[in-house]
Amino acid sequence: MPDSKPTLIAPHGGKLVDRTVDGATRSALLAEARTLPAIPLSERAICDVICIATGAYSPLEGFMGSADYHAVVDTMRLADGTLWPMPIVLPCKGDGVKAGKRAALTDENGGIVAVIDVSETFEGNPGREAERVYGTSDKEHPGVAAVLEGGARYAAGKITLLNMPEPQFPAETMTPAQTRAKFAELGWRTIVAFQTRNPVHRAHEYLQKVALEIVDGLLLHPLVGKTKGDDVPADTRMRCYHVLLEKYYPMGRTVLSVFPAAMRYAGPREAVLHAIARKNYGCSHFIVGRDHAGVGSYYGTFDAQRVFDGIESELGVTILRFEHSFWCNVCEGMATTKTCPHPKEHHVALSGTKVRDMLRSGVRPPQEFSRPEVADVLISAMSEPQGVKG
Ligand SMILES: [Zn+2]
Repeated sequence: MPDSKPTLIAPHGGKLVDRTVDGATRSALLAEARTLPAIPLSERAICDVICIATGAYSPLEGFMGSADYHAVVDTMRLADGTLWPMPIVLPCKGDGVKAGKRAALTDENGGIVAVIDVSETFEGNPGREAERVYGTSDKEHPGVAAVLEGGARYAAGKITLLNMPEPQFPAETMTPAQTRAKFAELGWRTIVAFQTRNPVHRAHEYLQKVALEIVDGLLLHPLVGKTKGDDVPADTRMRCYHVLLEKYYPMGRTVLSVFPAAMRYAGPREAVLHAIARKNYGCSHFIVGRDHAGVGSYYGTFDAQRVFDGIESELGVTILRFEHSFWCNVCEGMATTKTCPHPKEHHVALSGTKVRDMLRSGVRPPQEFSRPEVADVLISAMSEPQGVKG
């Protein structure tokens, strides 16, 4: 008898973590949490709590202890050998947080988000962490700056989420369990995920659709957690997605949801984290373009693609490595240097600076570069007081 249910890729480590509770268990923990020493969470740490508790960071059930921390920094693996690229640690300055005790994790207003069963507190080595994980100790690097600002003392242990922070995009918020249920309902078995923190131009659309040609469905999964100040705000990016999906994407083959993680700008190591998280969301394929998760000129163009060379089969996710794409006037279509033989003067290519200048002056970039509907969203965002910054 044929199997009627499609089988999705297994979560990383084999089991989807769920560190949320409800009902009486939640009420009891909430009451207890009010009596516990508190560790205030940064905006970035709140993103980590959400990712851990909902299973996006499976198999992690909490913040890393010293054995995992050092193993990850040095070998890109957890202490038990599981592939894991980046420390997920909880900076903790407060006194009263002790191994063997429980502590409350609180937001900026002192509201209780979660509790942590502290297994240990330890001194990390932020300088070494920066060098090994980010490839630089330059304080100008936004990810490194965040690591150094957090301090060297970390609290480790399993967490339990008690109050899910209010999502910025409730309609597009889905946990890994929910995306998996959705994919199963749609009858999809192979799904490609696309990660972005940028507005979607024709180049991205092309990669997404080329990928969609070989799988059952596309998960558009823009990152909406903490980003650096000059990235395009998440609400503007989401408006771009909505106008684009409405007119240009097959609805039965596309799911738009948000990825609640913070951006670390760690290039190759973060590309692996992004792939592992999407595996947990049920995706079998992951798109890695040029300079994925990069910032400035810290990483080589293809570093984030090469990092997968020795680990792709172990990871179990098929990595789709893409070149930059562009419109070619001779080909009369989107192409890359792999598929178009014509010299550059036939390509519609604009620098990021040029595009921002045009948008700021209220001018749409050529429609071969940006869909007019997307350009209009960006132009209107630029003219708002809190709009897009250069
Ligand atoms: Zn061409």
